[in-house]
Amino acid sequence: MSVALTTNPIEVKRRAEHAVLDCVNCGAHQTPRLPVIRANGLNRPFDLHRCTTCGLIQQFPRYSAGELAALYGASYYVFDESEEDRWARAVQQYVIHLLPHESKSPKRLLDVGCALGHVAALAQRRGWRVMGIDISANAVSRAHVEFGIDARAGALEQHVGTLPPFDVILLGDVIEHLPQPVAFLKSVRSLLSPNGVVCIDTPNFASRWRRIGRSNWIALNRYHINLFEPDTMRDCLRRAGFGDVAVRSYTNHRYETWASRPEVKALIAWLPGGLQWRAQKILSRYNGFGRWSGLRRIKPKTLDEARARVSDFAHYRLDGIPKLTRDNLAVTARVGHAD
Ligand SMILES: [Zn+2]
Repeated sequence: MSVALTTNPIEVKRRAEHAVLDCVNCGAHQTPRLPVIRANGLNRPFDLHRCTTCGLIQQFPRYSAGELAALYGASYYVFDESEEDRWARAVQQYVIHLLPHESKSPKRLLDVGCALGHVAALAQRRGWRVMGIDISANAVSRAHVEFGIDARAGALEQHVGTLPPFDVILLGDVIEHLPQPVAFLKSVRSLLSPNGVVCIDTPNFASRWRRIGRSNWIALNRYHINLFEPDTMRDCLRRAGFGDVAVRSYTNHRYETWASRPEVKALIAWLPGGLQWRAQKILSRYNGFGRWSGLRRIKPKTLDEARARVSDFAHYRLDGIPKLTRDNLAVTARVGHAD
């Protein structure tokens, strides 16, 4: 399917002026006024608005169903990322989200948005009974062929009636892509066992780097149509019937230091030529720091190496409990527990 996406800021503004924003979380009708983030061309051909009632950040105007389908064409998963970068990220996500839920008797895990299956494979190797699901048929077949993951293609809602109950459902970089997050979370809840847990990883719109980087913040892109903060994440989960919500935050190991931040590169670009070079040199000295620097310096190359590295970083699994200012939210919520 070929649908032209609007990338012209003037066109985005024109469309926004003639529409009403119906919040996808609380349902409030409103006429959008000042965007929190403005469209500024090819990289950000969209505005982000804050719901005046519940606070959820939402792209507006919204994509039509046809535009959404065009966004997730066959090329969506062909990210230019090395295998060792994928393993390093899988180790970090496993330690943060799944390690706290490991148990002696194998638990059932559903990895929604499993992509090429690195986190799912790691979980399977550490004793989980794993299923994966992903919108990309190509990604799903690679996860099956390379790691033997029992994976299905399509949207979660298409499979709800035929999936067994799960102890843990992981939503890694998923919820910010979905047009109706509350309805989706209700589907997730219906798939969890009575003591089941949902683990969510999503960009944190309340992060410090979002405030510093503004429209250059790393997590702003056209695929992220709803963006969450700790309060709106809790609100959304409660509307879907979850309780016991715990919200933490952490930073992707790749972007832990100032030198690695694209937002800083954008700031440095404003300096005069001679100063740019000096600023970069000063920053590069600090690139070896950070709690996950060991994972950045020596990345796992195989599934076995990744499995071993989980133990090395096990003590970081409760990282960031008191701080909610980092880039990624790490959220857990339970079925059948009222707050
Ligand atoms: Zn709202």
